[in-house]
Amino acid sequence: MSDRELLVLGTASQSPTRERSHNGYLLRWDGTGFLFDPGEGAQRQLTFAGNSGHDVHRLCLTHFHGDHCLGVPGIVQRLSQEGVPHPVSAHYPASGSEYFARLRNASVFLETADLRERPVHDSGVVATGGFGTLEARRLDHPVESFGYRLREPDGRRMLPELLERSGVRGPDVGRLQRAGEIEVGGRRVALEEVSEHRPGQRFAFVMDTRLCSGVRELAAGADLLVIEATFLQRDADLAAEYGHLTAAQAARVAAECGVRALVLTHFSRRYPAPAEFRAEAAVEFGGELVVAEDLMTVRVPKRR
Ligand SMILES: [Zn+2]
Repeated sequence: MSDRELLVLGTASQSPTRERSHNGYLLRWDGTGFLFDPGEGAQRQLTFAGNSGHDVHRLCLTHFHGDHCLGVPGIVQRLSQEGVPHPVSAHYPASGSEYFARLRNASVFLETADLRERPVHDSGVVATGGFGTLEARRLDHPVESFGYRLREPDGRRMLPELLERSGVRGPDVGRLQRAGEIEVGGRRVALEEVSEHRPGQRFAFVMDTRLCSGVRELAAGADLLVIEATFLQRDADLAAEYGHLTAAQAARVAAECGVRALVLTHFSRRYPAPAEFRAEAAVEFGGELVVAEDLMTVRVPKRR
């Protein structure tokens, strides 16, 4: 299993179908699990995929339409049932605090889990930690909606040939990485001499929205972009009316923003054939293209 991968829990917008569970995604990023927009049934889908409440560290909601949050009660109660020992942070649009309070207390249970509410008030940094920086950007939907982006800080990639030439070996490599400079055989070696710039990985999550600057800011340079493609282009007027994207729009924005791997999801039940989403998106986007299906996993592409 890769250290960084997306588990798709569900791919249906509005209401689940025979083939598709309500929307929901678990991003496993090293040791941290980000659960995005758990719709109804997310708890059971997690179980099907061999995961549990222990795998959830952060809950990120884009908005409070049911297909993005009706799974919250089950997940919240599961955390307590399992005795999850670590704190879990919950990020959601602050304007929907009333809804979150109801979801969190939807029925009677013994709350032992440490769930910390961190409502999002505006675009900006939401959290930082060993995983990097989690940011939110305001989107354009009939109700307040935020997309999220996870950014690993840029680093340095060590170059074995140059290390060897400079005589830096074994534990000295680690010392050099930590100190930025060491002395080997009477000569100072700087980290920059034996390494190159390594861009941090980026993950972006864009749900219900029309095209707007927030979409572009989130998608910019993403290694993996998960984005809603509720409609096909022939229904672009409906997409605009209800505040959604078409597969063509999502793919075009991904191409313009230098996205490497694109995951389309959140499909309207009016389209029985998912192949149409692929065909439409492939015209616009030449990178790795995934038309999401329930319970599939998608690796974050290797670093550039
Ligand atoms: Zn919505």
